[in-house]
Amino acid sequence: LALGAVGLMAAGLAACSSDAEGATEGGDVECNVGISMPTRSLERWINDGEQLEALLKDEGCTVDLQYADNKTSEQISQIQNQIAGGAKILVVAPIDGEVLSPVLSEAKKTQDAVVISYDRLINGTEDIDYYATFDNAKVGKMQGEFIVDQLGLDDGEGPFNLEPFAGSPDDNNAKFFFSGAWDVLLPYVENGQLVVPSGKSPKSNDEWASIGIQGWASDKAQAEMDNRLTSFYSGDEKVDVVLSPNDSLAIGIEASLKSAGYAPGEDYPLITGQDADKANVKAILDGEQAMTVLKDTRKLGEAVFEMIKQIVAGDEVETNVTYDNTKFDVPTAQLDPVVVTKDNVQEEIIDSGFIDASELGL
Ligand code: BGC
Repeated sequence: LALGAVGLMAAGLAACSSDAEGATEGGDVECNVGISMPTRSLERWINDGEQLEALLKDEGCTVDLQYADNKTSEQISQIQNQIAGGAKILVVAPIDGEVLSPVLSEAKKTQDAVVISYDRLINGTEDIDYYATFDNAKVGKMQGEFIVDQLGLDDGEGPFNLEPFAGSPDDNNAKFFFSGAWDVLLPYVENGQLVVPSGKSPKSNDEWASIGIQGWASDKAQAEMDNRLTSFYSGDEKVDVVLSPNDSLAIGIEASLKSAGYAPGEDYPLITGQDADKANVKAILDGEQAMTVLKDTRKLGEAVFEMIKQIVAGDEVETNVTYDNTKFDVPTAQLDPVVVTKDNVQEEIIDSGFIDASELGL
């Protein structure tokens, strides 16, 4: 059953009952899609969900889009409802990458559903089929290399005070972000060009979760930064650079710095980010954040849309890498992230239509 035909069916324009039962001998799958996103509290997930939903609906697919308020139990029950509602394809951005095995095994047993892990990898199960993501290690690498370049570490500059942060310990992506950055930065910590006054400096990538911020929460990042500033910075000592893995943490860190009296200008620390959320792009324009890593959610949505079209048509699904989820190497469509600074906001964010100039006050 081709996607176009499903479209006609969904629109009630054609009587095509024979193939309407979902997976058939031909390998074709009914385009009935459950999308499970982690939270509405972060702009990117709203965009991810709504864009994919729109693309699929345009093709006549049945779509159920749910957001789980960053609560694992809610995500599991939403997926259960989607399975009960007849979803044949599940697109899941997990809150916790380790706990979805039982519900996905149910999806396989009862619906023979095709499962796509979205942006974050679902671990420890054979009951997923594909993964679509950006190159997560590269995101971290870009943040690390940005810091090295901007501080002139390769020219021997320093020492600089660094405060590193990591993402949510339950998110499989967080370790890739941290490792990507720490592979670049750790040698400068070891040779003393970067100093971590708080001591929150993992000795190796494996220790990243010790500085992870649960749930990627801005307020938790803010409280952590407040703590570090009051406990470890006295007198004239200043933070020079903060490795923030994403924009939601950066917002909290920036608020903390602001209340401690830091203001944009020469002594303001270099702060990294990821996602190109509106507030952070504004912060970049205002000199409160140095960079973000853009992962264009429209491109990820399109990649998953292509996968779904291939699945529905019974065609081979195109992937370019694999990711090990501890059970098998999951075929993955992996996309490239882009560094955004003040210098290319116009080109990458505005001209590309990612954010409207008016929403940035421009
Ligand atoms: C995503 C990031 C996002 C973070 C917090 C990660 O898994 O890849 O883009 O900032 O979750 O939601």
